[in-house]
Amino acid sequence: MRFCPKCGRLMRPRIVDGERILECPNCGYSELVKAHLEGYSVRKRIEHTNKEKIAVIDESKIPKVLPVTRSVECPKCGNREAYYWMMQTRAADEPPTRFYRCTKCGFTWREYE
Ligand SMILES: [Zn+2]
Ligand SMILES: [Zn+2]
Repeated sequence: MRFCPKCGRLMRPRIVDGERILECPNCGYSELVKAHLEGYSVRKRIEHTNKEKIAVIDESKIPKVLPVTRSVECPKCGNREAYYWMMQTRAADEPPTRFYRCTKCGFTWREYE
């Protein structure tokens, strides 16, 4: 329960564009409910999976001219053409990781065996 900071009336929950907000029926003041537990945990989980898929790479280490492969599919837009390159991301004695970048939308991801 929360009261309007402007006029002191009890605020009502509403969903606007998928976001839960509290709105004052009297003056129209509204605010986003950030601490809503359900929404919070869902968002957290998405962030986590994205982090595992999206490659965090040093742009300066990507070769200027990249070969193109048609054997992969962009996980974002479904385009079947991507630039690829190899990069050492872990210890030097481990094999380098292969990276892909979609030629269409620019999405970059890494290959997992
Ligand atoms: Zn109000
Ligand atoms: Zn793409």
